Amino acid sequence: KNEGRNTYRLHRSEMDVQARHHLSLETELRDMLERGDGLVMHYQPLFSRDSGQLKSAEALVRWQHPVRGLIPPGEFIPLAERSGLILPLGEQILDRVISDITRWQNEGQAPVPVAINLSAAQFWQAGFADDIADRFSAAGIPPELIIFELTESMLLNKHDQGMAILTALNERGFRIALDDFGTGYSSLNYLQNIPAHSLKIDRSFIVALDNNTRGSRAIIAAIASLARELGLIVVAEGVETQKQWDQLGEYAIDLIQGFYTARPMTADAFTTLLNTQHSA
Ligand code: C2E
Ligand code: CA
Ligand code: CA
Ligand code: CA
Repeated sequence: KNEGRNTYRLHRSEMDVQARHHLSLETELRDMLERGDGLVMHYQPLFSRDSGQLKSAEALVRWQHPVRGLIPPGEFIPLAERSGLILPLGEQILDRVISDITRWQNEGQAPVPVAINLSAAQFWQAGFADDIADRFSAAGIPPELIIFELTESMLLNKHDQGMAILTALNERGFRIALDDFGTGYSSLNYLQNIPAHSLKIDRSFIVALDNNTRGSRAIIAAIASLARELGLIVVAEGVETQKQWDQLGEYAIDLIQGFYTARPMTADAFTTLLNTQHSA
């Protein structure tokens, strides 16, 4: 009798292992979000092209998975967007960023502005601008420290409503960065009125600099000078090489973000960087 029970138990636990193996990433993501314990933010610095000074950082989410290790956002953000988990995920990303900034404030470090990526579903939530303003004010974080990154495609087809939300965010003191610029569908025309404070030239144009393609140089030059003319801070994204860095000196580029200057790093590593910058 005993032996039979043990056999049954063994069999069952083997099935559990198998079942766990087959749990989809979506189920795991759902469970993680219910527990609320699996996300970490990494921070990638943006430096002034001219002075080399640290100017801001982009918050980039990672999923700290007990078995699979650190999962990059490309593997679970699109999944979250498809499966309706993007709103709770977005909430927890905000929680993480708020707690990291709070720590920097408590440790007496004057934090630099932090850029947060928004998904379309978050941006289009009713009352988004007010909710987000309440949230940062409750945490004692001035809105000037927060930059929201969004892509042109998020405003596609809903231009007027999108502008209204951007204006509301802007009026509440937040800043807006146009992410992945040059890859979307919008006309340059809308740059005139958009209440953005910075524009990030997409990495694909920067990569093309290495091949000395005249086209990409012309595009970077044109976007950068137009953006600066319109009063936007111009960021080059994904700068990986000395050659790219050197060539970007010829254009109206204000800030550099990329592996060449710094990779995304843990909040702890970024704390160290903040300390060295402020004592420098
Ligand atoms: P993104 O907003 O364009 O973020 C920049 C991505 O480029 C990051 O990838 C960053 O690690 C990477 N990167 C930076 N410098 C270089 C470089 O020199 N070379 C190369 N090859 N890559 C570089 P990451 O962290 O894997 O994020 C990928 C995308 O996932 C982001 O693209 C963004 O669209 C999305 N994402 C990341 N964090 C969040 C978040 O908190 N919320 C939302 N909604 N989306 C996020
Ligand atoms: Ca971004
Ligand atoms: Ca980008
Ligand atoms: Ca991107």
